Amino acid sequence: MVLPPDHPIAALPKADLHVHQEPTPHLDRVLAHREGRQLYDWAAWRRRLVAEFPPGPDRLARVGTMRPVPLEVDDDDELFVARIADVMYEHARAGGCYIEVRCGGDVVLRDRFMELFRRAERQVQVDSPALRAEALAIVMVGSEPPLALAAKVDGCIRLAGEGLAGVDLMCFPYRSEADWSVAHRLAERFAEAGLGITAHAGELSTDNIAAAAATPGLTRIGHGIHAIENPALVELLIGRDITLECALSCNVLFGVVPSLAEHPLVRLIDAGVKVTLATDDPVQVGTTIGAEYEAAASLGLSHDQLLQLTRNAIEAAFTTDRRRKDLLAELDAAAMSAASFDNRSTGQPPNVEVGS
Ligand SMILES: [Zn+2]
Repeated sequence: MVLPPDHPIAALPKADLHVHQEPTPHLDRVLAHREGRQLYDWAAWRRRLVAEFPPGPDRLARVGTMRPVPLEVDDDDELFVARIADVMYEHARAGGCYIEVRCGGDVVLRDRFMELFRRAERQVQVDSPALRAEALAIVMVGSEPPLALAAKVDGCIRLAGEGLAGVDLMCFPYRSEADWSVAHRLAERFAEAGLGITAHAGELSTDNIAAAAATPGLTRIGHGIHAIENPALVELLIGRDITLECALSCNVLFGVVPSLAEHPLVRLIDAGVKVTLATDDPVQVGTTIGAEYEAAASLGLSHDQLLQLTRNAIEAAFTTDRRRKDLLAELDAAAMSAASFDNRSTGQPPNVEVGS
């Protein structure tokens, strides 16, 4: 969905720290466009998902199972660049200024991965120069054979020197309390290599949130929303200054919350937890970062609160100091111009605190 240019949320700078690469859904979009054919019908897929699977883990297990084109298509470097660029284009079209694309499987181990990722970023910057993108690797612990895990870990550490920004740890079992001791040891190595660390946890229940929060070097958690059910977990997230990557539409579609109205986003903010907005699996979920900001606005968040979510994201981003400084300066400029626009429309002086 592309917001009309005069929509109040269209001009709001947006950031998305939690976007999966969705390889074949994006390859399908790229190839359908080139071949002049219809896209795979994700809306029909979502209707079947909701009709055939109960909310929660059974629905979540369907993510990535539908491949509209064969994965072998991804071997072609030019198509790989085009499908990564497609993720970034969607973000830029929705007014996004910063995106982190997380890659599972062996994708980061492919030849010249970071070079191809940067090529995709430069392609998108031709039309959207404000767009910055970083790459993350998903490291699954407890589901991959030890040799495959070791190769992935070594690859991530080598890629840290080439610009890989961070690692997303997923510990299995995901739906109940897992043993995080291996993940914690790996995290020490990742942190030493300068990689940012986030982890998927607390999407289905309060399980794994405390263990994720105890991960060395971890500063963010993907989802973590069920922390709201336990005041001690809320205090833990605040005490460790952990930012939650919240994916409203994704959580509603997969049924890990009963409805958008009952999503704990606002309660987490009111409790003092730092949160950001995210699309998670935007093609499969059928969302954009613009739609996520709109959904947050529908829960009662003000324009200033939405801007704060972008600020939280930039502050928690796994990017270079230079990029963070530039992005924060652009955000300040956007906030100033929004304030002066409000001033023109209301006749009130702008409420800008000098030095804030
Ligand atoms: Zn995710």
